[in-house]
Amino acid sequence: MKGCIFCNISEREIMAENELAVAFYDKYPVNEGHTLIITKRHVETLFEADLDELAAINRLIFDVKRLLDERYGPDGYNVGVNVGEAAGQTIFHLHYHVIPRYLGDVANPRGGIRRVKKSIIPYWAEGEKGGGRAP
Ligand code: 5GP
Ligand code: ZN
Repeated sequence: MKGCIFCNISEREIMAENELAVAFYDKYPVNEGHTLIITKRHVETLFEADLDELAAINRLIFDVKRLLDERYGPDGYNVGVNVGEAAGQTIFHLHYHVIPRYLGDVANPRGGIRRVKKSIIPYWAEGEKGGGRAP
């Protein structure tokens, strides 16, 4: 789509692709190796994609994981999608985040992607053994 950043990713930025999906590095990575996977077709969110496109994205997640393992040797991953402004989506062309995680990259990784809204994690009550509020 004209004016969409992700529809206009340049060939040289492409890390991997298949028939329906493309992977490239995030321009403002939260960790080394932070990668985005998009549909080739311009769709705004996860829920406008069709099942073939989602299957293609899933295949590419595996390819990207292999590449990132080789290049950075991370200790784990967060894989996720923001759907809609309320969920923090800022670019309205479907993209999956594949974020390599490294032991010690945050003080307390507990909760992973659930940390997007710390207050809705019910068992993070103050004073709980091994718990407590995330920093
Ligand atoms: P969202 O907040 O919509 O889930 O994520 C958008 C992502 O796109 C962010 O992680 C941001 O760093 C990344 N981003 C923004 N502009 C560009 C760009 O021009 N090129 C690339 N490769 N990533 C971008
Ligand atoms: Zn687009």
